[in-house]
Amino acid sequence: MEKILNYINGELIAPAKEQWLDNYEPATGKIYSQIPDSSEEDLQNAIEAAEKAFQKWSNCGHETRSEWLLKISDAILENSTDLIKAESKDNGKPEKLAEKVDIPRAAANFRFFAKAASQFASESHHMEGEAINYTLRRPLGIVGCISPWNLPLYLFTWKIAPALATGNCVIAKPSEITPMTAFLLSKICKEIGLPKGVLNIVHGSGSNIGQSLVESSSIKAISFTGGTQTGKKIASIAAPQFKKLSLELGGKNANIVFDDADLEKAVAASVKSSFANQGQICLCGSRLFVQKGIYEKFKSAFLEKVERLEVGDPTKKSSSLGAIVSKAHLEKIDQYVQLSKELGGKILAGGKKRNLSGRCADGYFYAPTIIEGLDAYCQVNQEEIFGPVVSLIPFKTEEEVVEWANCTEYGLSASIWTSDLNRAHRTAEEIQSGIVWVNTWLLRDLRTPFGGMKSSGVGREGGWEAMRFFTESKNICIKYR
Ligand code: NAP
Repeated sequence: MEKILNYINGELIAPAKEQWLDNYEPATGKIYSQIPDSSEEDLQNAIEAAEKAFQKWSNCGHETRSEWLLKISDAILENSTDLIKAESKDNGKPEKLAEKVDIPRAAANFRFFAKAASQFASESHHMEGEAINYTLRRPLGIVGCISPWNLPLYLFTWKIAPALATGNCVIAKPSEITPMTAFLLSKICKEIGLPKGVLNIVHGSGSNIGQSLVESSSIKAISFTGGTQTGKKIASIAAPQFKKLSLELGGKNANIVFDDADLEKAVAASVKSSFANQGQICLCGSRLFVQKGIYEKFKSAFLEKVERLEVGDPTKKSSSLGAIVSKAHLEKIDQYVQLSKELGGKILAGGKKRNLSGRCADGYFYAPTIIEGLDAYCQVNQEEIFGPVVSLIPFKTEEEVVEWANCTEYGLSASIWTSDLNRAHRTAEEIQSGIVWVNTWLLRDLRTPFGGMKSSGVGREGGWEAMRFFTESKNICIKYR
């Protein structure tokens, strides 16, 4: 059985204690590889390697770093066929989604931050006739990047690329549930000869090696994406050490369709925003608010499209939805659907596990599910389910829907569908979320700030925000008169 290895000091190596965890293929429910259950010793080796590499990497100049990032980006594209298959096998997502979204975006992350490295600048403040201040931005040192399982290589590289671009050395931990493309990335970095110790990838469980990474006083910052509960735990450990933190956490996003929306576009996009990646994207619109005037029309068009979605083997081109990432997560999703029935919700579509035959007979599949009849304040509409489940809620007025959109602890993203420009601006301003899309969903410009409000996170990623996060600014004041 294939063994995934740690990437430490430029080498692919087994964990010091030779302890391993099983890695499952969600579409078949079978163990297909093993990953290091890394320990403190592995982390120490990674820290030593990163510390040794830091001086040279942080001073080699932005052009050199930029060239390395471009090399990684090109190599990801050259290896994209293998990466696409690996991402789909490891996560359960359809290959066609990994081909369209995950792998191109991983390459784009490195390309984008390679260019950012060559454009990054900082401010100067002139005190006329007396002095000049300039802001010097220096890398932090050794930083930790921890990413989740839903967009494995996409989010892993979204953190690593800006950290490296700004001259830091990195210790990165992918989710133990989806470690494979991180392993392939380490093979790529070894193959192209990335300087030793600049990037180290340590595999293992979050509560063990992930937490040790956060606890280590050698790690100057943690960039984390994952669940809100984990984020809280990480903050409680990192804050007393005054460690820099970027936390991208859960969401319970509102998708709002007003009476005057372009119905066809809103329906088509709502199918995607509800069920793409089996609903396991932090930006999925799991609460679908539709204004009363078009509610019935929207509902029947939405249902018709959802019923045509095929849940199937992720390797098949015809599959719109693949497998749920793990058995435990499948059970969690089903529990929320059962709870919604107990709370008086009506299941308009799906509502149960989907049994496939052949090689996927033991896989973790769930039918795309639409629930109707639950109010915005009930548990199912308050807590993150993170699966192919959407709750359909009719609303009367703009005031009402803004209140409901804001009534959860989360504030990651929202979509608004309307042809009234003033209303679009008004609601976008009032909705408490870090991202608001108007007449679109998941349209991303990597230069824009990305992150959540309230329990959806602290800090922003993307563009200069990420470059600033991974550097420490120092003001230097020079008096010349
Ligand atoms: P998770 O359980 O919080 O895990 C995220 C990462 O943290 C994994 O690598 C995990 O390792 C690690 N981890 C777990 N406990 C840790 C600890 N005590 N110390 C340090 N690291 C620890 O989240 P998930 O289930 O993988 O991902 C789903 C969640 O991520 C959802 O809530 C989703 O909304 C959120 N998400 C947010 C964004 C965003 O941009 N805001 C994007 C994507 C996903 P193991 O996997 O090995 O346990």
